[in-house]
Amino acid sequence: MKIVKTVDEVRKQVKEWRSKGYSVGLVPTMGYLHEGHKSLITSAVSQNDKVVVSVFVNPMQFGPTEDLESYPRDMDRDAKVCEDAGASLIFNPEPSEMYHDDFSSFVDMGTLTGGLCGKSRPIHFRGVCTVVSKLFNIVTPDKAYFGQKDAQQLAVIRHMVSDLNFGIEIVGCPIIREEDGLAKSSRNTYLNENERNAALILSKSLNEGRRLIEAGEKDAAKIKQAITDYINTEPLAKIDYVEIVDWNTLEPVSKLDRPILAAIAVYIGKTRLIDNFIIS
Ligand code: AMP
Repeated sequence: MKIVKTVDEVRKQVKEWRSKGYSVGLVPTMGYLHEGHKSLITSAVSQNDKVVVSVFVNPMQFGPTEDLESYPRDMDRDAKVCEDAGASLIFNPEPSEMYHDDFSSFVDMGTLTGGLCGKSRPIHFRGVCTVVSKLFNIVTPDKAYFGQKDAQQLAVIRHMVSDLNFGIEIVGCPIIREEDGLAKSSRNTYLNENERNAALILSKSLNEGRRLIEAGEKDAAKIKQAITDYINTEPLAKIDYVEIVDWNTLEPVSKLDRPILAAIAVYIGKTRLIDNFIIS
């Protein structure tokens, strides 16, 4: 497995693969890889001849007060995870390779990005769509893999691919969790022991919401309230949002009469964590 830092090197490698008729999968990541990322890579390896993993902490998707500087990085560890999972190439560019000094083109979506995480992270999805478009153009994969952990991102990317005719199949992959239910995340490393315990409130509150739905509750406001009340029992938790939205439009619903996404973002101390479930 090779690690390359330039766009030219990726293009050269992909060109060689294409000349042999190989299919190519792409797994975009910000690195500090865990079992969640690994599951995406494993799926990609099972469905493509060659797999590129991009490891790039994309400055454009971080707001001015967010954790760009402190975001965890460990290329040696990431290389091992990729190698173990069977990836063929890691693309690990410097920001200057992705964004030249005179960079001025952006992919900005007019829908899906105003609510949920887009509300408290207003420039986030512009950064995501721009970098993912660039990665699609650089790698030209047949398929690209995204986790349901970032459900809004998955919906946004699917929409973007359709709007802009990328001709790439987007494969959504299930959320991988710790044994106790916490969704795996590179940001979990920010949590101290007390916060790590408190963070369980995310998955537990969603389980409570799911339990109500399974018992027949169809009123979104009631389910939202139950999840909110559950989270508020944890003193270290501060809710950013609790939403129940249409899984296609990401617009809030009042009744559960269509596929829905129940999504939450909660600060545990200073760390903002997200989790969700989809009922289709
Ligand atoms: P990130 O490195 O956080 O930008 O994530 C890269 C990709 O891995 C995204 O498509 C995420 O949705 C996915 N991902 C992150 N955590 C998980 C998880 N716990 N389970 C499944 N996919 C995940």
